[in-house]
Amino acid sequence: MEQFISNEQFNVIKSQINGMQRQAGGTSDEGVKTAVKEAAEAKVHDVFDGLSEEQRNLISGVSALETEEERVKFLMDLTPYRKSFPEVTPADLRGLFSKVKKLLIPDLSDIDFRALTYLGWKDLGQSKQYFVYEKDGELKGIQGRYVISARKGICSICNRYGDVAMTSIQNRPRESEGLKSYGQYICYDSKECNQSIQDTAQLERFLGQVFERK
Ligand SMILES: [Zn+2]
Repeated sequence: MEQFISNEQFNVIKSQINGMQRQAGGTSDEGVKTAVKEAAEAKVHDVFDGLSEEQRNLISGVSALETEEERVKFLMDLTPYRKSFPEVTPADLRGLFSKVKKLLIPDLSDIDFRALTYLGWKDLGQSKQYFVYEKDGELKGIQGRYVISARKGICSICNRYGDVAMTSIQNRPRESEGLKSYGQYICYDSKECNQSIQDTAQLERFLGQVFERK
């Protein structure tokens, strides 16, 4: 069986199912309920391209979900079709960040790689943030620094409102120029960020500041 559902696409399905439930539950108008359900079904199909008939069948049926049990089962049944982030090892991470002395390796045994769009972790002692992201089939390691924000805010990767940190990465645009710093408010907890992210455009725009150079 082919794994064809990315973490972002899974998050869209989850979000549409939850949103549909909230909106349909808030009205007794059957016409509105039907419209809400059909819109959710359409939005799920919108994030996929070129599916086989079998794959289309698997992601179809969101609009027919009625009970909490059915909603949970629908998402659970998709599990075998979810694509996984590359299951990196500590040695892989050391290779990606070979210039970093005393690299803090996160506990990888604790991670569900299917639920990752990017791997992110923090070195609390050094206020450092690490990102690993797959771009064009190649893993990239990007490091930055963060300052915890006293106020909640909107994450510029996943648009979730919650605890954020001002996270900055550095890049030297041209050999002759000095380092430039790019900062964004990003979820403090990258696990939560990965559970919210619905497309990679903003993540790529941020990390892309350093993709071009190694
Ligand atoms: Zn986020």
